[in-house]
Amino acid sequence: MDYRRAKPSGYRKIYSVIFSSLLFLFIPQQVFANPTVKNVILLIGDGMGPQQYALALSYARLASNAHTRELNLEKLISQGELGLMTTHPNNALVVDSAASATQLATGHYSGSEMIGLDYKGNPQKTILERARDAGKSTGLVSDTRITHATPAAFAAHQPHRSMEDKIASDLINNHVDVMLSAGLWSFLPQGVEDRESKVYAHLRQQIPEHIKLNSKRTDDRNLLNEAEAKGYHLVFDRESMLTAPENKKLLGLFDTKKMPNGIREHQTENQKSRKHPTLKEMTIKALDHLSKNKKGFFLMVESGQIDWAGHTSDAGTMLHQMLQFDKTIGYVMEWAEKNGDTLVVLTADHETGSFGFSYSNFDVPKAKRLEGSAFKDVKFKPKYNFGAPKIIDMLYQQKKSWTEMMSEFTALPEEQKTAESLMNIVNGSSEFKISLAEAEEILRPVDDGFYVNDFKEFYVYFNNHRQNRLGMILSRHQNIVWGTGTHTDTPVPVVAFGPEAIIRQFNGIHHSTEIAIMMKKALGLTIPQSH
Ligand code: MG
Ligand code: ZN
Repeated sequence: MDYRRAKPSGYRKIYSVIFSSLLFLFIPQQVFANPTVKNVILLIGDGMGPQQYALALSYARLASNAHTRELNLEKLISQGELGLMTTHPNNALVVDSAASATQLATGHYSGSEMIGLDYKGNPQKTILERARDAGKSTGLVSDTRITHATPAAFAAHQPHRSMEDKIASDLINNHVDVMLSAGLWSFLPQGVEDRESKVYAHLRQQIPEHIKLNSKRTDDRNLLNEAEAKGYHLVFDRESMLTAPENKKLLGLFDTKKMPNGIREHQTENQKSRKHPTLKEMTIKALDHLSKNKKGFFLMVESGQIDWAGHTSDAGTMLHQMLQFDKTIGYVMEWAEKNGDTLVVLTADHETGSFGFSYSNFDVPKAKRLEGSAFKDVKFKPKYNFGAPKIIDMLYQQKKSWTEMMSEFTALPEEQKTAESLMNIVNGSSEFKISLAEAEEILRPVDDGFYVNDFKEFYVYFNNHRQNRLGMILSRHQNIVWGTGTHTDTPVPVVAFGPEAIIRQFNGIHHSTEIAIMMKKALGLTIPQSH
C-alpha cells in the first residue's frame, strides 16, 4: 500500500464503494468504451473535391458582390475537425458514386457501380439500416433523385446503380422514415405512358399538373400505392411537404427525374408559388420529422448536382451548386449546435472534372504602372494571364446551366436548330460569349473526329458532349481547365462537427470505409467486420 495516501475513514470508504457500484449499475458500458451521440447527419457533396471548395472560396474572397465573405463550410471547418478521405473501391484506382456511397454507408470495400454490396457482391447492412434496427429514425434527402446512386447506397442492395426500378422498391421496403427528392418515374407503373389509360387518369388526379407523368419502370407496379400501404404519407410539392404530418413516414417525390439545379434555385427561392422545395427546405423538414424520435436518427443529405456540373464542364452552375449546398450546411450546423448530441460529417464521394482555375498565355494583361518603389522605372507586366477576379462575378451571373441551354436548343423545331440559334441561347444566358464558328464546332457530330480535348476517352457521356465542348471553348476566357469528363482520385475533405471526443479521430487521412466505421461507432452501433 502506498504510505503517502491517507486512509479513508470508515464512513468515506463505504460511501465511495457504494458510489462506484452505482456508477457501474447506471452508466451504460459503451460510455467507457466509446463516446457516442444520439444523431448523425451525413452531408455529401457529390463531386466536391478540394478544387470545388476552391471555387466557392474564390467567390467568397474575390467576387465583387459576394453575399458573404465567410462560407458556412469554413465555419464548420474552423469549429470542427478537418481530415482527408481516400475513396478507391476494391481493385480500382478511381471510384464512382455508387461504390463510394456504399463504402461510406457500410464500412466495407465495394465494387465499381455496386449499390449496398461488398466487393464480392454480398449485401452489407448500411449505417442507415443499423440505425433503424436500433430504433432510431432514418432519412435520405437529395437534390438529384432518390433512386440515384448516392441515396440508393444507404438503403438498397443491387448489383448495378442503373437498376433504379429495384432500388425504388428496396427503398420503401426498407422503411426509411423520410425520403425527399425527385425520381417519381421509378415509382409509377409503365401503363402511365399510355395517356388514354385509366391508370394515367387516376395518377393525373393524384399528382399535381406541373409534374410530367412518365415511367421508367418495366412493369406495372405502382410503388406509390405500395408506399401508402406501408404507411407513407406522399407529397409532390413544396407546400404539401411543409405541412406534412410528422407522425407518419414521409415520401416526397417532387419531380420526374431530377430536382432544379442551383441556378434555378437561387432565381426562384423567394417566389411564394414555387413548387419545388430547396435542398435546405427538404433538410429542415427531415430534421423536424426525424428529431421527434427520442432514440435519435441517422440522416444523409446529398448535394448531388455539383457532380453533374463537373461532368458537363459547367463552372457557373458548379458555383451555384456549391453556394446552394453551403446554405444547407449552415442550417445543419446551427441545428446541431442548438440540439447537441449530434455528429455532423461533411464530405464528398470523389472529385469530378479535374477542375481548376489556371494561368495561360491567352489575352495576357497589358503592362501597368504600380505605385511601389520597385516599379518606379519599370511597369508591372507578368508574362502570363493569371485570371481576373471578375471571372468569378461573370460565372455567378450565368442564368442557365449548360445542360438547360442544350435542352432548349434540342427542343427547337428542326428548321430552327442552327448554329445561330445555339449562339443566341448561350450568349443570352452566359456572360462568356461564343462566336458563330464556335457554335458550329459545338454542333459537329461526335463521330466527326472532333473531341473536346486530348483526353477524349474520358468524355464517356454521349449526352454531355455539347456541354463539354462549350466548357472547353470558353475555358480560355474563364481561366479554367477541365482534365476529365469523369471523376478523379483526389482525396476529398472530410469535416466532422460535434462533441470533441468524437470528432478528434476524423483528423488525418482515412479511407471512406474507416469514416463509415467512425460514424457507426459514434452512433453506438456495433459493426461486425468481415475483413
Ligand atoms: Mg450522387
Ligand atoms: Zn459523377
